[in-house]
Amino acid sequence: MAYEKKEQLYEGKAKKVYATDDPNVVIVSYKDDATAFNGQKKGTITGKGAINNRMTNNLMRRLEAAGIPTHYVEELSDRETAVKKVSIVPLEVIIRNISAGSFAKRYGVEEGIVFDEPTIEFSYKNDDLGDPLINDYHALALKLATQGEIDLIKKYAFAVNDHLKDYMKAIGIDLVDFKLEFGKTADGQIVLADEISPDTCRLWDEKTHEKLDKDRFRRDLGGAEEAYEEVMRRLMGDQ
Ligand code: UDP
Repeated sequence: MAYEKKEQLYEGKAKKVYATDDPNVVIVSYKDDATAFNGQKKGTITGKGAINNRMTNNLMRRLEAAGIPTHYVEELSDRETAVKKVSIVPLEVIIRNISAGSFAKRYGVEEGIVFDEPTIEFSYKNDDLGDPLINDYHALALKLATQGEIDLIKKYAFAVNDHLKDYMKAIGIDLVDFKLEFGKTADGQIVLADEISPDTCRLWDEKTHEKLDKDRFRRDLGGAEEAYEEVMRRLMGDQ
Protein backbone atom coordinates (compact mmCIF):
# COMPACT_ATOMS: atom_id res chain seq x y z
CA MET A 1 0.00 0.00 0.00
CA ALA A 2 1.29 3.47 -0.81
CA TYR A 3 0.98 6.34 1.63
CA GLU A 4 0.98 9.89 0.37
CA LYS A 5 3.35 12.12 2.36
CA LYS A 6 1.58 15.28 3.53
CA GLU A 7 2.55 18.11 5.89
CA GLN A 8 5.33 17.86 8.49
CA LEU A 9 3.79 17.39 11.95
CA TYR A 10 6.89 17.46 14.09
CA GLU A 11 10.67 17.65 14.00
CA GLY A 12 12.59 16.00 16.81
CA LYS A 13 16.30 15.61 17.44
CA ALA A 14 16.76 12.56 15.23
CA LYS A 15 13.52 12.22 13.26
CA LYS A 16 10.82 14.12 11.42
CA VAL A 17 7.19 13.03 11.34
CA TYR A 18 4.77 13.66 8.45
CA ALA A 19 1.03 13.23 8.09
CA THR A 20 -0.31 10.91 5.38
CA ASP A 21 -3.64 10.53 3.58
CA ASP A 22 -4.56 7.96 6.28
CA PRO A 23 -5.42 9.68 9.61
CA ASN A 24 -4.18 6.65 11.54
CA VAL A 25 -0.77 6.46 9.84
CA VAL A 26 2.22 8.84 9.89
CA ILE A 27 5.59 8.70 8.16
CA VAL A 28 8.78 8.81 10.22
CA SER A 29 11.90 10.14 8.48
CA TYR A 30 15.25 9.43 10.16
CA LYS A 31 17.99 12.09 10.14
CA ASP A 32 21.78 11.77 10.48
CA ASP A 33 21.77 14.39 13.26
CA ALA A 34 23.12 13.20 16.59
CA THR A 35 22.63 14.90 19.94
CA ALA A 36 23.64 13.99 23.47
CA PHE A 37 23.35 15.37 26.99
CA ASN A 38 19.85 16.74 26.42
CA GLY A 39 20.83 18.46 23.17
CA GLN A 40 23.94 20.21 24.51
CA LYS A 41 26.25 18.20 22.25
CA LYS A 42 25.35 18.22 18.57
CA GLY A 43 26.86 16.50 15.54
CA THR A 44 26.28 14.23 12.59
CA ILE A 45 26.82 10.52 12.20
CA THR A 46 26.82 10.05 8.43
CA GLY A 47 24.52 7.24 7.31
CA LYS A 48 22.95 6.86 10.76
CA GLY A 49 19.41 7.73 9.64
CA ALA A 50 19.25 4.93 7.10
CA ILE A 51 20.85 2.42 9.47
CA ASN A 52 18.55 3.29 12.39
CA ASN A 53 15.49 3.14 10.14
CA ARG A 54 16.33 -0.27 8.68
CA MET A 55 17.57 -1.74 11.95
CA THR A 56 14.51 -0.54 13.90
CA ASN A 57 12.17 -2.01 11.29
CA ASN A 58 14.01 -5.33 11.24
CA LEU A 59 13.75 -5.58 15.05
CA MET A 60 10.13 -4.35 15.23
CA ARG A 61 9.07 -6.99 12.69
CA ARG A 62 10.73 -9.71 14.77
CA LEU A 63 9.18 -8.42 18.02
CA GLU A 64 5.74 -8.18 16.43
CA ALA A 65 6.08 -11.81 15.28
CA ALA A 66 7.01 -12.70 18.88
CA GLY A 67 3.69 -11.24 20.11
CA ILE A 68 4.72 -7.73 21.16
CA PRO A 69 2.46 -5.09 19.55
CA THR A 70 4.39 -2.34 17.75
CA HIS A 71 3.62 0.80 15.74
CA TYR A 72 5.37 -0.60 12.63
CA VAL A 73 3.36 -0.58 9.39
CA GLU A 74 5.66 -0.56 6.35
CA GLU A 75 9.19 0.45 5.32
CA LEU A 76 8.88 3.03 2.53
CA SER A 77 12.53 3.78 1.74
CA ASP A 78 16.02 3.76 3.26
CA ARG A 79 15.10 6.53 5.68
CA GLU A 80 11.30 6.52 5.80
CA THR A 81 8.75 4.24 7.42
CA ALA A 82 4.99 4.29 7.79
CA VAL A 83 3.93 3.75 11.41
CA LYS A 84 0.65 3.82 13.32
CA LYS A 85 -0.19 7.27 14.62
CA VAL A 86 0.07 7.15 18.41
CA SER A 87 0.18 9.55 21.31
CA ILE A 88 3.51 8.88 22.99
CA VAL A 89 3.31 7.95 26.68
CA PRO A 90 5.75 10.51 28.17
CA LEU A 91 7.87 7.88 29.92
CA GLU A 92 11.30 6.72 28.75
CA VAL A 93 11.52 3.08 29.74
CA ILE A 94 15.07 1.92 30.45
CA ILE A 95 16.05 -1.71 30.86
CA ARG A 96 19.54 -2.66 32.02
CA ASN A 97 21.38 -5.98 31.97
CA ILE A 98 24.87 -4.62 32.73
CA SER A 99 25.88 -1.46 34.65
CA ALA A 100 26.78 1.55 32.50
CA GLY A 101 26.06 5.22 31.91
CA SER A 102 23.84 7.04 34.38
CA PHE A 103 23.37 3.90 36.52
CA ALA A 104 27.12 3.57 37.13
CA LYS A 105 27.39 7.30 37.83
CA ARG A 106 24.34 7.55 40.11
CA TYR A 107 25.25 4.59 42.29
CA GLY A 108 29.04 5.01 42.18
CA VAL A 109 29.87 1.65 40.60
CA GLU A 110 32.04 0.72 37.64
CA GLU A 111 30.59 -0.07 34.22
CA GLY A 112 30.36 -3.73 33.19
CA ILE A 113 28.78 -5.39 36.26
CA VAL A 114 26.48 -8.13 34.91
CA PHE A 115 23.20 -8.16 36.85
CA ASP A 116 21.49 -11.41 37.95
CA GLU A 117 18.18 -9.96 36.77
CA PRO A 118 17.40 -7.04 34.44
CA THR A 119 16.34 -3.72 35.99
CA ILE A 120 13.68 -1.29 34.82
CA GLU A 121 13.33 2.43 35.41
CA PHE A 122 11.29 5.29 34.00
CA SER A 123 12.28 8.83 33.13
CA TYR A 124 9.69 11.54 32.66
CA LYS A 125 10.04 12.52 28.98
CA ASN A 126 10.39 16.28 29.36
CA ASP A 127 13.40 18.08 27.84
CA ASP A 128 12.84 21.26 29.88
CA LEU A 129 13.24 19.24 33.08
CA GLY A 130 16.09 17.08 31.68
CA ASP A 131 14.08 13.82 31.65
CA PRO A 132 14.11 13.24 35.44
CA LEU A 133 13.90 9.77 36.94
CA ILE A 134 10.30 9.04 38.02
CA ASN A 135 8.56 6.19 39.85
CA ASP A 136 5.16 4.56 39.22
CA TYR A 137 3.43 6.58 41.94
CA HIS A 138 4.66 9.88 40.53
CA ALA A 139 3.68 8.85 36.99
CA LEU A 140 0.18 8.04 38.27
CA ALA A 141 -0.06 11.30 40.24
CA LEU A 142 0.90 13.24 37.08
CA LYS A 143 -1.60 11.13 35.08
CA LEU A 144 1.10 10.20 32.54
CA ALA A 145 -0.44 6.70 32.28
CA THR A 146 -2.88 4.46 34.14
CA GLN A 147 -1.75 1.60 36.42
CA GLY A 148 -2.96 -0.86 33.79
CA GLU A 149 -0.89 0.86 31.12
CA ILE A 150 2.20 0.96 33.34
CA ASP A 151 1.84 -2.76 34.09
CA LEU A 152 1.51 -3.56 30.38
CA ILE A 153 4.49 -1.34 29.47
CA LYS A 154 6.65 -3.18 32.04
CA LYS A 155 5.54 -6.57 30.75
CA TYR A 156 6.29 -5.61 27.13
CA ALA A 157 9.62 -3.98 28.03
CA PHE A 158 10.93 -7.12 29.78
CA ALA A 159 9.67 -9.23 26.86
CA VAL A 160 11.53 -6.96 24.42
CA ASN A 161 14.66 -7.44 26.55
CA ASP A 162 14.37 -11.25 26.45
CA HIS A 163 14.13 -11.26 22.65
CA LEU A 164 16.58 -8.45 21.93
CA LYS A 165 19.23 -10.00 24.19
CA ASP A 166 18.98 -13.21 22.16
CA TYR A 167 19.07 -11.44 18.76
CA MET A 168 22.20 -9.57 19.84
CA LYS A 169 23.93 -12.58 21.43
CA ALA A 170 23.45 -14.44 18.13
CA ILE A 171 25.60 -11.78 16.42
CA GLY A 172 28.27 -11.62 19.14
CA ILE A 173 26.93 -8.55 20.94
CA ASP A 174 26.08 -8.06 24.63
CA LEU A 175 22.94 -5.95 25.14
CA VAL A 176 23.99 -3.69 28.03
CA ASP A 177 20.95 -1.39 28.29
CA PHE A 178 18.38 0.35 26.13
CA LYS A 179 15.54 2.86 26.12
CA LEU A 180 12.04 2.21 24.80
CA GLU A 181 9.04 4.44 24.23
CA PHE A 182 5.44 3.30 24.03
CA GLY A 183 2.45 4.91 22.37
CA LYS A 184 -1.32 4.70 22.51
CA THR A 185 -3.25 4.17 19.27
CA ALA A 186 -6.55 5.91 18.47
CA ASP A 187 -8.37 2.83 19.82
CA GLY A 188 -6.41 2.88 23.09
CA GLN A 189 -3.96 0.03 22.44
CA ILE A 190 -0.48 0.33 23.99
CA VAL A 191 2.19 -0.41 21.36
CA LEU A 192 5.98 -0.24 21.19
CA ALA A 193 6.94 2.96 19.32
CA ASP A 194 10.00 5.12 18.53
CA GLU A 195 13.17 3.26 17.58
CA ILE A 196 15.56 0.50 18.61
CA SER A 197 19.04 1.32 17.31
CA PRO A 198 22.61 2.06 18.40
CA ASP A 199 21.25 5.53 19.33
CA THR A 200 19.01 3.98 21.99
CA CYS A 201 20.89 0.81 23.03
CA ARG A 202 24.33 0.18 24.53
CA LEU A 203 25.85 -2.64 22.52
CA TRP A 204 29.24 -4.14 23.40
CA ASP A 205 31.13 -6.69 21.34
CA GLU A 206 31.01 -9.83 23.50
CA LYS A 207 34.71 -10.64 23.00
CA THR A 208 36.53 -7.30 22.69
CA HIS A 209 33.95 -5.29 24.71
CA GLU A 210 34.29 -2.60 22.04
CA LYS A 211 31.40 -0.11 22.17
CA LEU A 212 29.20 -0.38 19.06
CA ASP A 213 26.75 2.42 19.89
CA LYS A 214 26.18 6.12 20.49
CA ASP A 215 28.68 6.22 23.36
CA ARG A 216 31.32 6.54 20.58
CA PHE A 217 29.74 9.93 19.81
CA ARG A 218 28.86 10.90 23.41
CA ARG A 219 32.39 10.16 24.65
CA ASP A 220 34.29 11.32 21.52
CA LEU A 221 35.76 7.86 20.96
CA GLY A 222 35.66 8.17 17.14
CA GLY A 223 34.44 5.50 14.72
CA ALA A 224 30.73 6.00 15.33
CA GLU A 225 29.85 5.54 11.63
CA GLU A 226 31.86 2.30 11.45
CA ALA A 227 30.28 0.99 14.68
CA TYR A 228 26.72 1.58 13.44
CA GLU A 229 27.61 -0.08 10.12
CA GLU A 230 29.14 -3.04 11.94
CA VAL A 231 25.97 -3.69 13.98
CA MET A 232 23.85 -3.36 10.84
CA ARG A 233 26.08 -5.76 8.88
CA ARG A 234 25.99 -8.38 11.64
CA LEU A 235 22.23 -8.04 12.15
CA MET A 236 21.11 -7.91 8.54
CA GLY A 237 23.95 -9.35 6.45
CA ASP A 238 23.69 -8.09 2.88
CA GLN A 239 19.92 -7.40 3.04
N1 UDP B 1 18.91 6.49 26.30
C1 UDP B 1 18.27 7.02 25.19
N2 UDP B 1 17.77 8.30 25.27
C2 UDP B 1 17.87 9.06 26.38
C3 UDP B 1 18.51 8.52 27.50
C4 UDP B 1 19.02 7.23 27.44
O1 UDP B 1 18.14 6.35 24.17
O2 UDP B 1 17.38 10.21 26.37
C5 UDP B 1 19.46 5.11 26.25
C6 UDP B 1 20.98 5.10 26.23
O3 UDP B 1 21.45 5.05 24.90
C7 UDP B 1 21.31 3.84 26.96
C8 UDP B 1 20.14 3.64 27.94
O4 UDP B 1 19.08 4.44 27.42
O5 UDP B 1 21.33 2.73 26.07
C9 UDP B 1 20.46 4.03 29.36
O6 UDP B 1 20.97 5.34 29.37
P1 UDP B 1 21.48 6.01 30.73
O7 UDP B 1 20.33 6.17 31.65
O8 UDP B 1 22.65 5.25 31.22
O9 UDP B 1 21.84 7.49 30.31
P2 UDP B 1 23.11 8.16 29.64
O10 UDP B 1 24.33 7.58 30.26
O11 UDP B 1 22.96 7.84 28.18
O12 UDP B 1 22.90 9.60 29.95
